[in-house]
Amino acid sequence: MLLGVAAAGAERPAILIAGVAGLVAGAMSMAAGEYVSVSSQADTEQSDISRERRELASAPEAEHAELAAIYESRGVDPDTARAVAEQMMAFDALGAHARDELHITELTTARPVLAALTSAATFTAGAALPLLLAALLPMALIVVGEVVGSILFLALLGAVGAIAGGTRPWKPVARVVFWGALAMALTAGIGRLVGTSL
Ligand SMILES: [Zn+2]
Repeated sequence: MLLGVAAAGAERPAILIAGVAGLVAGAMSMAAGEYVSVSSQADTEQSDISRERRELASAPEAEHAELAAIYESRGVDPDTARAVAEQMMAFDALGAHARDELHITELTTARPVLAALTSAATFTAGAALPLLLAALLPMALIVVGEVVGSILFLALLGAVGAIAGGTRPWKPVARVVFWGALAMALTAGIGRLVGTSL
């Protein structure tokens, strides 16, 4: 976005205002979008768990057969599957059904506020470096500097993400650099077009 405004020929104050507005609007909309989407996921999980709780109360035999069938389909022989289902249900019936039938665990449970804050924070971190460059670079170098700086930053993020995920960094770095450069080229091109027509 900074590149689009800079390519349109704007002065530094306009570029910085656009950058700060973009950072705030982006962080807020990422947080709002994430909150809405994760909340609806949490609602679905909650209603699935309530339905499971009702079924366990009203039809425990059918629920036992259902859980045993799940273990059987994963390769456990029928007798063992029935015994495992029985022992797991005696220990924590709802927990066993939530985990093995609905695939809901403590780890995967949707947390809307946490997801919203994480999205806002990561967006802000990602937007901060180009904004800092826009504040510090000499005006003559602002377009080139933003391009080079942003691509380097994207490559670094791609490498950090790959290493954190335990994969080789080259492919993720190439992917994030390619799509980032394409996005910047399109934005700069459109900025330039709008800048010359205004
Ligand atoms: Zn069940």
